[in-house]
Amino acid sequence: MKPDLFQAPDYYNIDELLNDEHRLVRDAAREWVKREVSPIIEEYAQKAEFPKQIINGLAEIGAFGPYIPAEYGGAGLDQISYGLIMQEIERGDSGVRSTASVQSSLVMYPIWKYGNEAQRQKFLPKLASGEWMGSFGLTEPDHGSNPAGMTTNFKDMGDHYLLNGAKMWISNAPFCQVAVVWAKSEEGRIHGLIVERGMEGFTTPETHNKWSLRASSTGELIFDNVKVPKENLLPNKSGLGAPLGCLDSARYGIAWGAIGAAMDCYDTALRYSKERMQFGKPIGQFQLQQKKLAEMITEITKAQLLAWRLGVMRENGTATSAQISMAKRNNVDMAITIARDARQMLGGMGITGEYSIMRHSMNLESVITYEGTHDIHLLITGLDITGLSAFK
Ligand SMILES: Cc1cc2nc3c(=O)[nH]c(=O)nc-3n(C[C@H](O)[C@H](O)[C@H](O)COP(=O)(O)OP(=O)(O)OC[C@H]3O[C@@H](n4cnc5c(N)ncnc54)[C@H](O)[C@@H]3O)c2cc1C
Repeated sequence: MKPDLFQAPDYYNIDELLNDEHRLVRDAAREWVKREVSPIIEEYAQKAEFPKQIINGLAEIGAFGPYIPAEYGGAGLDQISYGLIMQEIERGDSGVRSTASVQSSLVMYPIWKYGNEAQRQKFLPKLASGEWMGSFGLTEPDHGSNPAGMTTNFKDMGDHYLLNGAKMWISNAPFCQVAVVWAKSEEGRIHGLIVERGMEGFTTPETHNKWSLRASSTGELIFDNVKVPKENLLPNKSGLGAPLGCLDSARYGIAWGAIGAAMDCYDTALRYSKERMQFGKPIGQFQLQQKKLAEMITEITKAQLLAWRLGVMRENGTATSAQISMAKRNNVDMAITIARDARQMLGGMGITGEYSIMRHSMNLESVITYEGTHDIHLLITGLDITGLSAFK
């Protein structure tokens, strides 16, 4: 792969909206990605493997639990810093960002928000340091966009719960030590259970043959009469709102992360357009190529402002789930469109692993589907503005 010459676009001086801590955190993550992710990521994506050696580094830049309080091992940062870290990691690779998102927002967040003090003390410090990696089991083979229909269930056996069912498409599953699993009680209510590797009847087969998020490890969570200790039930929230609260946090991070992928594609195409000569001119001198670049920077700038404003609202506790849906949907769509245009600007070179664009493009096909598909987020906005549900 070519050396990482990335220069971040900031057409509207978004930096002026950030404080010193934001810039410090962002710059540290940016440097780390350049040093530790860019040189190896193409090789790992090609061989479809998550680079486990970067786990410690991810923990050091605060990517595991950026906003979790320091007393539990988190970085104790605000929502904008969290977003900026996700942006920088996804600038390197969406798969690596997925691993960090799952660990932070889908595993640490529910333990922090819905768990008791003993659960927080037991799990959060080890997850923050990367000693333990986590996964989040909501999606099932027959229930994706409609998680309320889940069939994974647990029975109260007196001194433990008995868990049965299966989850599919689970990021980090093949190597996780801890899985936050959503399952129905005998009364049909959804609860979160912490399932630990080593519990009898719990297996995590890997999903192979993905063309997308190849540097992220995906698998199934299978529960065959798993005895889950009663102290592993998350006591402080139940119902579908509990997993959806985690998704709010993760989707917010994705809205920032997608900007990173888009920035990398734009920056690569801009540089290439000034170097690549055809018909005796750099291709950047042709109007059709300038149109692509001008539209890319316009869309990136709009997405940056959307994410920043959403971050302010997240921080003061006023962001609604529907507002988060809008940003996730818009920014991922923006990134996938930019990746496609940038790929074309590189001609044949655009399809090779010499450049990051094709990898970003393929990765974003997962990002536009997971954590609520593009269409589902549109329906959420539709419901929010009309008050009428078009889901069923
Ligand atoms: C790489 C990867 C990693 C993932 N990681 C995780 C993870 O860590 N944990 C986890 O729990 N899940 C994870 N997922 C699952 C992901 O969240 C689901 O794939 C997603 O929610 C969509 O579900 P589905 O694939 O079953 O599609 P479906 O729900 O079957 O949807 C198929 C199509 O139908 C459309 N559709 C569905 N319902 C409606 C409707 N009412 N109106 C209009 N259109 C509709 C959808 O928009 C979509 O286009 C991951 C997925 C991928 C690909």
